[in-house]
Amino acid sequence: MDIYGILGHPTGHSLSPILHNAAFRALGIHARFEIFDVAPSRLPAFFKRMRRAPIHGLAVSLPYKERVLEYLDSFDSSTQKIGAVNTVYNENGVLRGFNTDFSGAISALTKACSATALHELRGKTVVVIGAGGAARAIVYGLQQEGAEVIILNRTQSKADTLARDFGCQSGELSTLFQWQPNILINATSVGMEPNIESISCDPHYFRVAPRHLLVFDIVYRPRITQFLRLAQEAGLSILTGDSMLLHQGAVQFKIWTGKSAPISVMKKTLDEALCGLGAK
Ligand code: NAP
Repeated sequence: MDIYGILGHPTGHSLSPILHNAAFRALGIHARFEIFDVAPSRLPAFFKRMRRAPIHGLAVSLPYKERVLEYLDSFDSSTQKIGAVNTVYNENGVLRGFNTDFSGAISALTKACSATALHELRGKTVVVIGAGGAARAIVYGLQQEGAEVIILNRTQSKADTLARDFGCQSGELSTLFQWQPNILINATSVGMEPNIESISCDPHYFRVAPRHLLVFDIVYRPRITQFLRLAQEAGLSILTGDSMLLHQGAVQFKIWTGKSAPISVMKKTLDEALCGLGAK
């Protein structure tokens, strides 16, 4: 049996085992997806064991997305530019790193755009709130698609650094009102359980936002965050974070198995898991 798993610390919140085990079952693949909750001091020993054991693939979660780079043998060019890995493939003892967060976000956004008057990402103005690892991956993906990106963050120096790295604009969070974006993304952890009443921007923004605005929150627990709830109440289109989780998982599955992911099975499994958790 092939072994895969999620590497993180802690890992209790992860839906990856549910997602990937459902996909393995659906395609009749003799594999199991486990949880590897590894303390930082145990990381070198874990990777040594991974090459020999072997563990065929890893989804990498917080706090290791940057730290695992030093244990890998190669990365693709997007991973290098983003500077973070969320997927590892063990190819006969050679550990290869990938970042599927950016492609997951772009797939979810592209689908949402095609269902609205936005049609596509190319030429659209996107405000990204956040400047952490996920924001970095999303900014990379948006730029690849030809969108114009503005980064706002609580710590403005981090937004400035990210903007410099990718050649886009940045500003203080309070400047949100001065932009006229087509898409607004919360790429911070604000609003995540248990702090579900929190929001990363001024809650009054949605009342004065452009009418065509698509609002995307990458936080998926709860599925409808306060950020999305206020956008919805203001009559704006919304995109939930589980769509990114689903699409980034599908890309991981393809990297590991070489097979197209059974995306409808994975979506159904994710829907049921999130409903079971009360994250409607
Ligand atoms: P990270 O690197 O730790 O970055 C956290 C970001 O959130 C930073 O911009 C930080 O701002 C901001 N932030 C945190 N607490 C804040 C607060 N109280 N007020 C304002 N800003 C705050 O984390 P990450 O890897 O980017 O992940 C961010 C979120 O995305 C997490 O909730 C994660 O679960 C989610 N995520 C979802 C998916 C998906 O598939 N849907 C994929 C990846 C990540 P400062 O710079 O000022 O600290």
